[in-house]
Amino acid sequence: MEQKIDLLIIGGGIWGCAIAYYYSTANPGQNVLVLEQNELNNGATSRAAALLTKVRSNQALIPLAKETARIIPVLETALDDSLDIKKVGLAQVATDAASLNALESMYKIADRFDEPYQKWTSDQLLEKTPWLKLDAALEIGYFPEEAYCDPYRLGSFFARAARKNGVAFRQSTRVTELVVKNGRVTAVLTGDDRIRAEQVVLAAGVWSNQLLEQFGAAIPYAPVRSQFWITEPVRGLQQDAPIVLIPSANAYLRPEGNCLLFGIREQQSIAVAPGKLPMQMNDFLYSADKGFSELADVIHLLEPFYPEIYNVGIKSYMAGFSGYSPDACITAGACSGLDNLFVAGGDCGAGIALSGGLGQLMTALLSGSVAGEEIAAFRPDRFGSLDAGAESWLQQCAAARSKKKSG
Ligand SMILES: Cc1cc2nc3c(=O)[nH]c(=O)nc-3n(C[C@H](O)[C@H](O)[C@H](O)COP(=O)(O)OP(=O)(O)OC[C@H]3O[C@@H](n4cnc5c(N)ncnc54)[C@H](O)[C@@H]3O)c2cc1C
Repeated sequence: MEQKIDLLIIGGGIWGCAIAYYYSTANPGQNVLVLEQNELNNGATSRAAALLTKVRSNQALIPLAKETARIIPVLETALDDSLDIKKVGLAQVATDAASLNALESMYKIADRFDEPYQKWTSDQLLEKTPWLKLDAALEIGYFPEEAYCDPYRLGSFFARAARKNGVAFRQSTRVTELVVKNGRVTAVLTGDDRIRAEQVVLAAGVWSNQLLEQFGAAIPYAPVRSQFWITEPVRGLQQDAPIVLIPSANAYLRPEGNCLLFGIREQQSIAVAPGKLPMQMNDFLYSADKGFSELADVIHLLEPFYPEIYNVGIKSYMAGFSGYSPDACITAGACSGLDNLFVAGGDCGAGIALSGGLGQLMTALLSGSVAGEEIAAFRPDRFGSLDAGAESWLQQCAAARSKKKSG
């Protein structure tokens, strides 16, 4: 059976669902189909710590994160349902000259993008987070508009709103090949179907390069493992406690129910070649010891701020792959050499926060209404030709995560 679609989106994670929502809102009546190899939002999306950070050192990403914040109440109204966003703010703790400088530049960025901030005393933060120890704090910047959410739920809201707009979703449908003729993708092949489409968006997360390999093309990212831990219940934990970012410890903490969720970047992140990823990651063994040996290497950096960390007990461990690029920037644009193929990938561990803006940007790209200079930072070909499985490339991408100091 052969069908004709106006826009076909490969990948039903939060990015595919957000693109489907924005595109169908801007182009009512068009035939949009999302193909997902497993279930919607089961990939990286369901594994995220889901900080919705807007004030970022990479300023090219800020408008995208701001759009996510703008669209959330719009989705809630459209679906008459709540996303229960935790707008608790983010407290960034500076403890040395480098992190003080970083905080100063965050204030300037916040001013530039019209995002509020306040300087907090240690006592102000301790009122909300009595479990912290802040003796080493030189300055605390509080960004009240920062938030976190349930990432699976946000992805599902995009999908539900897209469905209301008429978008069709097919789950358990893996795209196995793109059929190319005269510089265009004329159809995609699934196990038992050949689907023709006018335009195709590849938003298959860390799997995307598996489908580009056949053309010798690649999105500039490598799958890099991210991980966080959730403690046993913490006495005195307030539900409205802010996200706490401690750059000198490479760590962030936030409430997760009555427990603490914390991430602390390992010294050496792990990247794998895209071709080595299985289709279904639920049983993938990210770390035999649940990241404990790497945690042991760095936990002393967190201990001065949260002395109970050695006693509290760890209830659960979460790991997953995000697509990191050496410049810690996402990729969004037309795939060179193929007229009607667009790619959205290399989420750099920020794909939940950026989802709304990414959906909006891809919709503008698909209609040809974005000027080149506006998206230069996101160009798929900005690293020239690359071997996405080469060890040196994997190391460069892994380093982008190891060096990350933000949430
Ligand atoms: C541990 C961890 C913590 C994180 N914390 C944060 C955070 O605090 N804030 C934040 O903003 N982001 C965070 N992220 C990153 C965030 O999860 C990702 O950026 C985001 O989920 C990317 O969405 P996506 O749709 O691109 O990818 P995915 O959710 O992985 O979706 C891609 C989809 O494509 C499907 N697919 C792949 N190949 C095919 C094919 N051939 N045919 C059909 N379907 C296919 C997959 O099954 C998958 O469902 C974190 C990630 C991890 C792992």
